[in-house]
Amino acid sequence: MELNKDKKIVKSKAPKNIGYRNFPMVPRVVFGKDSFDQLGEILLPKRQHSDAPFIFLVDDVFEGKSLIEKIPLIFNDQIIFVSADEEPKTDQVDAIVKQLQNSFSELPSGIVGIGGGTLLDLAKAVAIVLTNTGGAAKYQGWDLVQKESIYHVGIPTISGTGAEVSRTTVLLGPERKLGINSDHTTFDQVILDPNLTQGVPKEQWFYTGMDCYIHCIESLNGTFLNAFSQSYGEKALELCKEVYLGELNEAESRDKLMMASWHGGMSIAYSQVGVAHAMSYGLSYLLGIKHGIGNCLVFQHLEEFYAEGVAVFNQMMQRHDIELPNGICANLSDQEFDTMISVAMGMVPLWENALGLHWRMTITPEKLRNIYEKI
Ligand code: NAD
Ligand code: ZN
Repeated sequence: MELNKDKKIVKSKAPKNIGYRNFPMVPRVVFGKDSFDQLGEILLPKRQHSDAPFIFLVDDVFEGKSLIEKIPLIFNDQIIFVSADEEPKTDQVDAIVKQLQNSFSELPSGIVGIGGGTLLDLAKAVAIVLTNTGGAAKYQGWDLVQKESIYHVGIPTISGTGAEVSRTTVLLGPERKLGINSDHTTFDQVILDPNLTQGVPKEQWFYTGMDCYIHCIESLNGTFLNAFSQSYGEKALELCKEVYLGELNEAESRDKLMMASWHGGMSIAYSQVGVAHAMSYGLSYLLGIKHGIGNCLVFQHLEEFYAEGVAVFNQMMQRHDIELPNGICANLSDQEFDTMISVAMGMVPLWENALGLHWRMTITPEKLRNIYEKI
């Protein structure tokens, strides 16, 4: 509304469209120990016909393990084992799509990703590229996917990334590491079976779990925070503290970390991550350092931004006897530092969330170099 000189209302302005996100959530989810056993029953109505297989992309850590016998293979379904040693790449997605196109005359009935964030992201990307031509790199960015992806199911075997709920799949492309952020990325079905996370090595359990913890800290301390994000972020943070600082038994801990991951993912869906993620992208781009450990390597040095969060993080590290590697950036050249800094500073929405629109007044290349040098 506006007032004229005589303080009379002269006209009403239409509310400005500030474009709230209208983002998709996973429409179906099963939670519970051994819920993986329901997979066959869940997939059955989604089978198009006997020539349209289900493709199971499975972390190769499960090769030869009992989990594989439980995969409900029928007709010409296929299991493809994939290593999670490296983060997913666009050309890896394209190679899997090509392999499927060469092997089958029909589109698959669906893609099922079984593993950590790496396998979940691959499954999402393959489901997209099967119906959208031109290769995965073409769709890195925001809302570039035109056509509906094929039916895809996510089954996490390690908790923390929130990849099971997010509308992105993070891929290393020829030019950049960037997500395919789209409404077609989100899984159609997720199965949360905490028993599948048994057997995760302790360090990895910590690093991937800390991804969730850092999602919470960055979301809850960000300028984009709103009641939606806060409600999920606070719950996820409480669960992380119970898991990493409480007295839970192993089964409770697995259940709670799985739900922390879910809530942490929901929290950032409606806000954004922050400083640790921006800088971790630099480490990952230049040195191939994986997301979870990369976040930890940066976060330990972020007292200036997240004092309380870093203090609790240090307690968690001590409690679980985690020693982070050091000297990672010791021998980097000026040019290499510059690459990391420019990748990190390119993550504009993350900085805006962390520090507001005028973030460049606080964040300079020198400041980031100083932090990287400590890692
Ligand atoms: P990961 O998938 O990279 O796996 C880490 C390690 O744990 C691997 O060695 C894997 O083989 C092993 N592992 C997984 N489950 C196991 C089990 N049950 N038993 C024994 N070993 C097991 O781990 P992550 O941290 O979940 O995922 C990292 C990836 O997720 C990165 O590529 C990152 O970019 C991506 N990510 C995506 C999103 C998203 O929203 N899409 C969010 C955060 C991170
Ligand atoms: Zn993360």
